[in-house]
Amino acid sequence: MKLTQSRILTPALHPRLLLLLFLLSPFLLAGCAVTETGGINLISVEEEWEMGKEFEAELAEELDVSQSPDLTEMGERIVAQTRKSDLPWRFYVVQDDSVNAFNVPGGLVYVHSGLIEQVDDETEIAAVVAHEIGHGVARHGTERLTRQYGLAVLAGVVLGEEPGVIQQIVAEIVAAGTIARFSREQEFEADELGVQYMNDAGYDPNGMIRLLERLVDLQEREPGTVEQFFATHPSTDERIDAVRELINSN
Ligand SMILES: [Zn+2]
Repeated sequence: MKLTQSRILTPALHPRLLLLLFLLSPFLLAGCAVTETGGINLISVEEEWEMGKEFEAELAEELDVSQSPDLTEMGERIVAQTRKSDLPWRFYVVQDDSVNAFNVPGGLVYVHSGLIEQVDDETEIAAVVAHEIGHGVARHGTERLTRQYGLAVLAGVVLGEEPGVIQQIVAEIVAAGTIARFSREQEFEADELGVQYMNDAGYDPNGMIRLLERLVDLQEREPGTVEQFFATHPSTDERIDAVRELINSN
């Protein structure tokens, strides 16, 4: 199982961490049986938002980011429909010509300027933002981190004892344009939540279909611009069908 495979694990464990490991051991054992979509998450929401501040600061160094009042207003309108509306979320435009967007643990949503330029319809941007907020609300990022880095390392990050790990994760985000490759099921879940939030926030959920169709079209005409997106968001045709079904069933 991956939770205990970390190479960064240091022998000198913090006492609180040892206690945590002891208390969590039944969960860790139970976790062995959980599959890819099982969603083991051993990072608390409070810890996630603490880590988010570190990610935010590091990404501000590594990427050309800025805040846009329009994007923030849209993001807040969508977040208000979620069960994590009481937490602080931040929305950033990344100056980058490629078409991409990603969620980072701790309520962070990044949208590339290339995506905003390709889209002329506000509801399509709302679809991207709602999808990324969906990943954040479902906590897919910390699920992935739990699996990838292991509880001990992540607890060390939260306690400030593994500062190098934050930089390592940020370097991966910068290289891949996302916190991690999500599973097919996680993508469908983010779409499902996104459609629901769009509806509740008063955006036409068909914007999600128009966006996905636009991305498929771009892939044919300018594959380079959407390469990162398609590497991290699989099976677009299937997603279009699933979103259409969701909208029709509402
Ligand atoms: Zn996604």
